[in-house]
Amino acid sequence: MSTGSYDVAIVGAGPAGCIAAKVATQHGLKTIVFDSRNHIGKPVQCGEFLPIPEELKNIFPNSARIARLADVPKKFITNRTSKLMLSSPSNHQFEFSLISNIIDRAKYDPYLAEQAEAEGAHIHLQTTVIRRTDSNLLILRNKSGRQIINAKVIIGADGAQSRIAQSIGASYQNKAHDLSPAIQFVMTNIECDPNTTEMYFGHQIAPGGYAWVIPKSETMVNIGLGFRRAFTFTSENAFSYLQRFISSHPANIQRMKKGKILRKSGAIIPMGGPLSKTYSDSVLLVGDAAGHVMASNGGGIPTALGGGELAGIAAAQHIHQNQPLCWYEAAWKTEFGEELSSALGILRIADKIMISDSLTDWCMRLAGPRYLQKLIRCRLPFPVRFASKTFVKLLALLSSF
Ligand SMILES: Cc1cc2nc3c(=O)[nH]c(=O)nc-3n(C[C@H](O)[C@H](O)[C@H](O)COP(=O)(O)OP(=O)(O)OC[C@H]3O[C@@H](n4cnc5c(N)ncnc54)[C@H](O)[C@@H]3O)c2cc1C
Repeated sequence: MSTGSYDVAIVGAGPAGCIAAKVATQHGLKTIVFDSRNHIGKPVQCGEFLPIPEELKNIFPNSARIARLADVPKKFITNRTSKLMLSSPSNHQFEFSLISNIIDRAKYDPYLAEQAEAEGAHIHLQTTVIRRTDSNLLILRNKSGRQIINAKVIIGADGAQSRIAQSIGASYQNKAHDLSPAIQFVMTNIECDPNTTEMYFGHQIAPGGYAWVIPKSETMVNIGLGFRRAFTFTSENAFSYLQRFISSHPANIQRMKKGKILRKSGAIIPMGGPLSKTYSDSVLLVGDAAGHVMASNGGGIPTALGGGELAGIAAAQHIHQNQPLCWYEAAWKTEFGEELSSALGILRIADKIMISDSLTDWCMRLAGPRYLQKLIRCRLPFPVRFASKTFVKLLALLSSF
């Protein structure tokens, strides 16, 4: 068993952890990163849909940081879609403009890690953090056995089921409701419109979630879905929902016939909004570990980048100037808290609607592309609280007929 001392220890070398590591080292901090994977970025557990910086400026108007960080170098972009198509349970389709890069995370994530290493951060792969103790030690396991390290600040960038979040008592209570099992295939030999990203809603398709088709090129797609256990009446798993979507949804029957599956992957998406607490005296939570995902669409790359940079700055200001870590929570709330909370409000309303396919159809038609595009961009045309109450009343009224 060996030990070591660091200014900052980061658990997880995804986008959030790598950006935090880069910034912490840039500020002169001795920084170490652990990830249980063999290779950074692989397997890809992501649809790779990242709106272009101009769209992100519109989605997160208070965070120039997010738009700057999401300006991904061209060599990591495999395609650009200019439209989003939403399909209702009865396959009524609504299209609107939303320009997005489709990035190659198998290459982009390692690039972020290389940038952190170039600044001096040490990244250790095949190293699993088993737990964090109350005295801020990390117990690790790797090929050489168990190790213990200590750090002044620990950054939990360890995804939706974060052990670091658990260690500060900050996890979701209702996992069936707030965690979404998601699965994705990369398929080739598909005829698709390379200009359009598609989203499919319906209780039979993905209860409490949606299915997506994201074109990586004219013939290759990321096709996947996320659902939530609290919205199912069966024990069906994500894999079986996806197989049914591919083989029997009217949009897919023809175009998927000759399709070949190149890769399969699955992971969990946090859908319960930001955790109630994203810091402690010596811990910061970032990215999925903090619940920083837009609950109205499941996207978490932009906020992982923005939150990662803020966490690196917060750690440096804490260690150099004794600034309390609560600064971090105030900072992310200022930059993207309102949008994440609106997105959660939208999902809560959708939760009440999506239990019925006919109600979902009706509401999507009522909203039309004009309002659907606002909802996807985390915007309600009226205050969330008011909308929530109005919808509940409306639903009560409808169900009384
Ligand atoms: C199927 C799917 C599709 C998605 N599609 C999109 C999309 O199209 N667009 C979008 O914006 N978002 C998408 N997301 C969400 C997006 O992938 C995440 O929000 C984003 O990757 C979050 O980055 P992160 O750095 O917080 O976490 P991650 O990228 O999940 O990285 C966490 C890292 O922590 C490591 N780790 C975990 N536990 C430990 C431990 N105990 N010890 C050591 N290492 C550990 C993991 O190995 C992993 O490398 C999708 C998610 C899924 C599952």
